[in-house]
Amino acid sequence: MATFDVVIIGGGVVGSSIAYHLAEAGCSNVVIIERNERQEMGSTGKSAGGVRAQFATPINIRMSRYSINCFAHFEELTGHTADYRPHGYLFVATSERHLAVLRANRQQQIAQGLTNVEIVTAEDIVRMVPQLRAEDIVGGSFCPTDGFVDPYSVLRGFSARARERGVQVWLNTEVTGIEVEQDRVSGIVTTQGRVATRTVVNAAGPWAAQVARLAGVEIPVSPLRRQIVNTQPFDQLPRPLPMVIDMSNGFHFRREGEGILMAWPDSQETVGFKTTFDQEFIEKILTRAVNRVPCLAEAQVNPRRCWAGLYEVTPDHHAIIGPAPGVDGLFFANGFSGHGVMHSPATGRIVSELILHGQSPVLDASVLSVERFAAGQLIKETAVL
Ligand SMILES: Cc1cc2nc3c(=O)[nH]c(=O)nc-3n(C[C@H](O)[C@H](O)[C@H](O)COP(=O)(O)OP(=O)(O)OC[C@H]3O[C@@H](n4cnc5c(N)ncnc54)[C@H](O)[C@@H]3O)c2cc1C
Repeated sequence: MATFDVVIIGGGVVGSSIAYHLAEAGCSNVVIIERNERQEMGSTGKSAGGVRAQFATPINIRMSRYSINCFAHFEELTGHTADYRPHGYLFVATSERHLAVLRANRQQQIAQGLTNVEIVTAEDIVRMVPQLRAEDIVGGSFCPTDGFVDPYSVLRGFSARARERGVQVWLNTEVTGIEVEQDRVSGIVTTQGRVATRTVVNAAGPWAAQVARLAGVEIPVSPLRRQIVNTQPFDQLPRPLPMVIDMSNGFHFRREGEGILMAWPDSQETVGFKTTFDQEFIEKILTRAVNRVPCLAEAQVNPRRCWAGLYEVTPDHHAIIGPAPGVDGLFFANGFSGHGVMHSPATGRIVSELILHGQSPVLDASVLSVERFAAGQLIKETAVL
């Protein structure tokens, strides 16, 4: 029977980052178990790749700062590119209430050491993106080190370097059981047989609640469809273009290659494992797009570049990171609520340190413990997309 120090369930960007961080810390008797034939077939391959530190809560800001620094040095660290493009995130407010939120967030960001976020005027915004309809814009905020990465490249970089250090990746293998003896993990059952281990990490993305249940534990992580629409090549918007967020309705867009990538959180969406792209979404998003960026009326949608994937959402839109209560040796790295790619480096660092040392002093993530839900200590984030 195979025996590993650590078994990671799920080979997406989060599981890969945890494996990388464990291996870099000298723990490489590790296996990633992935049921698909390729590691990017879960949420990671559907991500828009946005990375930002413009959040409201200290933990999100700190995780982003750690992660963006990692993306900026990714090639030195892993030998692979993350394709990090620091083109910025531009939040656009059309109400004094939203502008006040951005100002308050900036104070928190400064307190966490993020000093390059600027509050910008409507005139500044029009200078950056002259094509915006601006008569109702009251101001916004801009951070130049926010931007984008290529999620596939990040996954590959982490995973390849972990493999070079001795980590194994088992593809086409599903975990069907987690064995617990006297409140302690003792092994897992897979479609390729049993594996002995005393440490298991749940990095199963939108399927996290099902995997937790294999050990008899409940975690509040729900799958929620998110859809992306890309246009054909479109040259009427600047390049480079930041991620622009219309705070009045959550519509956001950025440049992707020659075209424009557009997203919008549809409040009609309901929880479930739906991943088919809904053609009616195109009309819905274009209405919001043309309202803020009139010239997008002339853009052609690229039907081959429209897709749907799953967010893995928690009740307070923050991740669940840390040990499982009542099952020694089981760790969660779940529920990223739309931030799993951008927070994957920080998550890998935190989870690897918790496994190896029982604490993570560089990035204390104890507020993200699953116990917060039962204790009623939910964390409030105002900058949710
Ligand atoms: C449309 C869209 C846009 C997004 N945009 C952004 C963005 O701009 N920025 C950002 O940071 N995040 C974004 N996200 C969120 C991000 O993609 C996720 O948070 C992230 O990919 C989660 O990574 P993961 O490794 O936890 O999950 P996944 O990539 O889903 O990996 C989990 C893996 O676990 C495997 N698995 C599950 N159960 C089992 C089992 N029993 N046995 C073996 N394997 C199992 C699955 O097959 C899967 O491959 C977006 C998501 C979507 C859908």
